[in-house]
Amino acid sequence: MVAYKSKAVERIRLPGRDERERALEEAGYNVFALAADDVYIDLLTDSGTGAMSDEQWAALHRGDESYAGSPSFERLESAVADVMGFPYVIPAHQGRGAENVLYGSILSEGDVVPNNTHFDTTRAHVANQGAEAVDCPIEGAHDLSAAESFKGNFSVERAREAVSEVGAENVPLVISTITNNSTAGQPVSIENTRRVRAFADEIDATFVIDACRFAENAFFVREREDEYAEMSVADIAREQLEYADAVVMSGKKDGLANTGGFVATRDEALFERCKSRAILYEGFPTYGGMAGRDIEAMAVGLREAVTDAYIEDRIEQVRTLGSMLEEADIPTYTPVGGHAVYLDAGSFYPHLDSSEFPGQVLVCELYREGGVRGVELGSFAFPDSDRPELVRLAIPRRTYHQEHFEHVLETVKRAYENRDTVDGLRLATEPEIPELRHFTAELEPVSR
Ligand SMILES: *Cc1c(COP(=O)(O)O)cnc(C)c1O
Repeated sequence: MVAYKSKAVERIRLPGRDERERALEEAGYNVFALAADDVYIDLLTDSGTGAMSDEQWAALHRGDESYAGSPSFERLESAVADVMGFPYVIPAHQGRGAENVLYGSILSEGDVVPNNTHFDTTRAHVANQGAEAVDCPIEGAHDLSAAESFKGNFSVERAREAVSEVGAENVPLVISTITNNSTAGQPVSIENTRRVRAFADEIDATFVIDACRFAENAFFVREREDEYAEMSVADIAREQLEYADAVVMSGKKDGLANTGGFVATRDEALFERCKSRAILYEGFPTYGGMAGRDIEAMAVGLREAVTDAYIEDRIEQVRTLGSMLEEADIPTYTPVGGHAVYLDAGSFYPHLDSSEFPGQVLVCELYREGGVRGVELGSFAFPDSDRPELVRLAIPRRTYHQEHFEHVLETVKRAYENRDTVDGLRLATEPEIPELRHFTAELEPVSR
């Protein structure tokens, strides 16, 4: 079923092959350095890159820019209360601003934080407080083809091990990320969320849900968790968030906005602590680094995100691309998660060692063959880890259509056909912080 028609359009252009080859070389084989105008289909991220609805554009005009007490903030508060069930809200300029406000209010030096998998900004904010981020994925989370329903789940057993090493007094915070962005956008069940809640109670910790993709997660719960098969996505989302003391949210994901984020909580004392830190880093707590107009767009977007019409169309798009690739026998991570399809670059290029960045090679091939931009999430992005060599094709919300996906399919197929002929890459420049090198490092081809 088709859920939208277009009201505004943007021209896109596929540069010629020579142009693409030149652009790639000038970008140092790092697609973050490409000009967006030179990209034909941009699957770099689904963060803030989606199309807003006509209702959101209309809401922008209602934006009130008062420094304090803006009615736009009141409309956000009421959307967060209705959709997510939290009475206290602090806006932030985007998700990582919310992370700074919340985690900075809870953590101190030497603490340990279990999370199913820390998203990169989450890990960095935990580290920034002098605390240690411990990932607790379930067994099989990195198995590219295990047919499990909730590969994003939090392993309470692993978290318990971490607590037994450092003592519960050093674990003031437990996080569950839904969907699990760094594990291929895989969902987390409500049954698992309940167990994490009980675990947090057991060690007297604050339980935070990283809710950036809470609506996508609720869709999978309805599909895969029997108890919730008959419930609306909106009701499921609220039920899942009910177990948390607080959430961090990026409005650029399931807020369906181009910018923004917030912290929301039901804990009044925590709210008061967060407010002081918000003033320091984000702004007065009724705008928190956002323009009133953007707050309006995010408030409307939150309500849209849990409607069946939106969420069914959203997941169907991602799955359609996944199925097209699977049918063409392209190696991918399955089942497909909520916001992206992940290509298994390790299987494309068994002749390349991880030090030759097979994922980044594939990213370059996709641009070279079809002007498609994806992102590497393997040994280039995560130095010294034994993660699989994945390339993420993230689908911006409400932006592309079947014809775009057909072009992506043809492009990936060509890259797959040429897989035996490509060479690896090596670093030409090495930025100071290796964890962030995939954003800015330059590379060069290794010729054999
Ligand atoms: C995107 C994201 C964040 C950070 O949000 P930004 O708006 O990009 O700052 C945090 N956690 C998860 C799981 C995310 O996907």
